[in-house]
Amino acid sequence: MNEKTVAIIGAGPVGLAAAAHVLERGMSPIVLEAGPEAASAVRQWQHVQLFSPWEYNVDKAALRLLAPTGWNSPDPQSYPTGGELIDRYLAPLATRTPLRETVRTSSRVTAISRAGFDKAKTKGREQAPFEIRYQNGKGPEVLRADAVIDVSGTWFSPNPAGSNGLPAIGERGRADRIAYGMPDVRGADRDRYAGKIVAVLGAGHSAVGTLIDLVQLADEVPGTQPIWLLRGADPAKAFGGGSNDKLAARGELGTTFAALVAAGKIRVETGFGVTHLSDSEGRLKISAGACCGARSVVADELVVSTGFRPDLSFLSELRLRLDPAIEAPVALAPLIDPNEHSCGTVRPHGARELAHDEPGFYLAGMKSYGRAPTFLMMTGYEQVRSIVADIAGDKEAAARVELVLPETGVCTRGGVESAGAAGCCGGPAKDEPSTCCAADETARKAGSAGCGCS
Ligand SMILES: Cc1cc2nc3c(=O)[nH]c(=O)nc-3n(C[C@H](O)[C@H](O)[C@H](O)COP(=O)(O)OP(=O)(O)OC[C@H]3O[C@@H](n4cnc5c(N)ncnc54)[C@H](O)[C@@H]3O)c2cc1C
Repeated sequence: MNEKTVAIIGAGPVGLAAAAHVLERGMSPIVLEAGPEAASAVRQWQHVQLFSPWEYNVDKAALRLLAPTGWNSPDPQSYPTGGELIDRYLAPLATRTPLRETVRTSSRVTAISRAGFDKAKTKGREQAPFEIRYQNGKGPEVLRADAVIDVSGTWFSPNPAGSNGLPAIGERGRADRIAYGMPDVRGADRDRYAGKIVAVLGAGHSAVGTLIDLVQLADEVPGTQPIWLLRGADPAKAFGGGSNDKLAARGELGTTFAALVAAGKIRVETGFGVTHLSDSEGRLKISAGACCGARSVVADELVVSTGFRPDLSFLSELRLRLDPAIEAPVALAPLIDPNEHSCGTVRPHGARELAHDEPGFYLAGMKSYGRAPTFLMMTGYEQVRSIVADIAGDKEAAARVELVLPETGVCTRGGVESAGAAGCCGGPAKDEPSTCCAADETARKAGSAGCGCS
């Protein structure tokens, strides 16, 4: 038995998977979850249908814990909503398996350091246990652990509307007309949006999904008017890989959206970098441009779907190695940098790419992607399998790649888009892990970033 204690921050899908792997290796996981129950972030988007089918949404070590409980496996080819992911997988995993003894809910981590070592002190640092401070409503608590996996996601730190990364002027004062992420416009939040002019800012899957739902709401409730605000000049970039996408539902989302835009069901404002928000005769004036807005759109509601960023505030005493732009671990960032390529998937990666200058500390799950938008749950499951093997000292298993990623069907290399660039983004692991495909290797040798293999 390896007596190591591993603190896991966040009981989302990847945090629970990490705990399952830690248990399986005979170590002790302690999962600290800020919300009142596991999967608190997923619960916020429970109305959304996933674009990955069940077979990609469950972790293998988690399944081994669930099997003896009489758990019924869902149809691997069907697509759950976020709510079904909780009801059929995450909640049983957190409450009906030995993980129930390890998850501490309503426990928000506020700071992490190493016992007796501030950030500047080096000698003996590696041997010092981690000290994790958290709040559970009863006062400040401290936990000591041999290793820490931060899987606290990014859902609760959404990007603001401002195109410069700061809140737009006037954004904070108009919170009552702004929602972030993916509100349930046809369900729980229907009254807020029915019959209203609703502007949606962003060009990722969340913006696309919300706009499709708003078109359906407009068919049901006259007067509902969706407006799509996008910062870029080319709406087609949001349409995805269509039938080339190996995740069919993800491809269909883009295809459906493209058809609605082509049919004129959605008003489109391109090149719209929001700078100011103000009031206008009882409505919200959304402006883009220099002082006071060169262009503006008037709406009742604004949905900001401009992505998320990691909350690094409680990690300031740790020696992190993060890319300054993407805020992901430096070895991972070039593989997912949206400036370089638009692959929805990257080659599988694990402990080696996720390491920092702080032995025993790892960022994993959605948070490990920093500001990059293309994280998949199955990528996270592979990350934590490898990380936990590393913590247990099984370097061979940590280095092994056990994942086959589905390709997106869209690949941008050096600004040139090519649909269905087979073998480039994702796909089966290659013999040489640093090589995704021959063309990619050529690009790499020429000194430019390849698609998922810089
Ligand atoms: C709308 C939407 C749809 C998506 N659809 C798919 C899909 O179809 N397929 C797919 O593969 N991926 C999808 N993703 C991406 C990703 O797989 C999910 O976001 C997934 O939930 C990420 O899992 P996670 O465990 O890394 O983080 P999260 O699920 O975000 O979990 C993090 C947990 O940490 C907790 N936490 C946060 N801060 C603290 C703190 N300080 N202390 C303690 N706990 C804390 C949170 O409460 C939360 O429970 C989707 C994402 C979104 C937003």
